[in-house]
Amino acid sequence: MAVLVLVVAGLLLSGCRGVRTEVRKTEFMMDTAVTITAYGPRAEQAVAAAFAEMRRVAALMNADDPDSEVSLINRNAGLEPVRVSSETFELLELCQHYSELAAGAFDVTVRPLVELWGIGKKDKYVPSPEEIERALQLVDYRKVILDQNTKTVFLPVPGMGVDLGGAAKGYAADRAREILKEHGVRSALIDAGGNIWTVGIRPDGRKWRIGIRHPRPEVAGGVLAVLPSQDLTLVTSGDYERYFLKYGTRYHHIFDPHTGLPARELVSATIIGNNSAEADILSTAVFVLGADRGLALTNQLPHITTVVVTPKLQVLTAGSHETELELVYKEGEDQ
Ligand code: ADP
Ligand code: MG
Repeated sequence: MAVLVLVVAGLLLSGCRGVRTEVRKTEFMMDTAVTITAYGPRAEQAVAAAFAEMRRVAALMNADDPDSEVSLINRNAGLEPVRVSSETFELLELCQHYSELAAGAFDVTVRPLVELWGIGKKDKYVPSPEEIERALQLVDYRKVILDQNTKTVFLPVPGMGVDLGGAAKGYAADRAREILKEHGVRSALIDAGGNIWTVGIRPDGRKWRIGIRHPRPEVAGGVLAVLPSQDLTLVTSGDYERYFLKYGTRYHHIFDPHTGLPARELVSATIIGNNSAEADILSTAVFVLGADRGLALTNQLPHITTVVVTPKLQVLTAGSHETELELVYKEGEDQ
């Protein structure tokens, strides 16, 4: 009897040690630092496999990589349909779905604008109205031909291009989460530069606490709000990650496809949901749409919670997790 008790105690101990084993790794990919923290006996292999999966997705979908499927689609604009993997095809379909809902505020064909402005690549370059107009002629998600049967993508006009920059990080985070779960990880945090996934709860039995950064820390301190989180994804689009200033104007990397200019309605848009690709697309879409039209869009989606910050630093929230949000910064507090 005594032996049995000891064995059981031993099992419990090793079990505990397994659960508390923390593995935290950071890699730079998709233009950002990705950090995965995972717990459990197989956390080491799980994290390595999750990173390998994210690198695989990045290689498929990075428009800057000439070997990606996206580049293949773009090179064949005006020439011929390109057969792609089902995951690239399905992500493009998801983008198209939300482009419709967002009346084109999200548009996967923004590539000509991304190249023209070259934010973060060219040096403080503001294109002329003519250049912007020329690029805009090539931007229209409705022209993309997605053929379900052949899994082909066709851009009918030469010069058109797709850019999954507003969705692929979320999709990669979704894949990383799946891989962690397949490895038996029940507690983890994926942070892909503004795209967060919380897997389960923390090993100490509490929920994860995710901070939403304030877009203007110089005015309001670092944290806008904290969300206790269990199996939720949280994605922010902001004007403060990739931008340059010229004559006091902030030029950043999220474009309004109707004007060809960096969107000005909001300074940040955060989406909380249960699918990171969807949340990624919606954060970009809401950022472009602005507070009224953005919240009108996400209010149609009951599983989504939205936090937006206006240029006057008003904070607006809506959705199912709204009441759990702990606002750190209150409007007008520091102004
Ligand atoms: P981040 O990449 O900083 O997380 P987003 O998820 O909002 O930010 O994605 C911005 C990227 O999406 C840009 O770098 C560009 O590649 C692409 N993009 C920019 N504007 C749009 C738009 N209106 N619709 C779809 N994609 C866009
Ligand atoms: Mg996005």
